[in-house]
Amino acid sequence: MTLERTLSIVKPDAVAKNIIGKIYDRFESVGLTIVACRMTQLSREQAEAFYEVHRQRPFYGELVEYMTSGPVVVQVLEGEDAIQTNRRVMGATNPEEAEPGTIRADFAESVQANAVHGSDGPETARSEIDFFFDEGDVCQR
Ligand code: ATP
Ligand code: MG
Repeated sequence: MTLERTLSIVKPDAVAKNIIGKIYDRFESVGLTIVACRMTQLSREQAEAFYEVHRQRPFYGELVEYMTSGPVVVQVLEGEDAIQTNRRVMGATNPEEAEPGTIRADFAESVQANAVHGSDGPETARSEIDFFFDEGDVCQR
């Protein structure tokens, strides 16, 4: 077991539904600790850069539209195996395939409007945390 940090986003559909707290409860219930957080409205440039890896995918344009459609909440989660722990509590990308009791099974609207983002590995976690937060923004708890 290793203490890790991962980048999480409460996406626009979940912010619009006023379930930020319900989602934070899921993180805290599995022992993840919020060590930095901020609400922000992504610009087109930011959303395009954040999802650069998906630029060639057919859904890229719509994904950027959706991620800029309203404010998001970005947070750094810390805990044992935080990256995989968060992916587990999020559930599969497509809510129809997500395990019962996961965030996406319970709150996602669709494969696109799927409530949350979570880093998928140590490298992306580091770069995605740096994308949104300065070192000094991340607190010791
Ligand atoms: P995320 O990166 O947001 O944590 P993920 O790793 O489960 O989600 P990715 O394959 O990285 O899924 O896709 C990034 C995001 O693009 C998805 O969360 C979803 O919002 C959107 N997306 C993925 N596949 C599709 C699709 N087939 N149609 C529409 N949108 C999609
Ligand atoms: Mg992903």
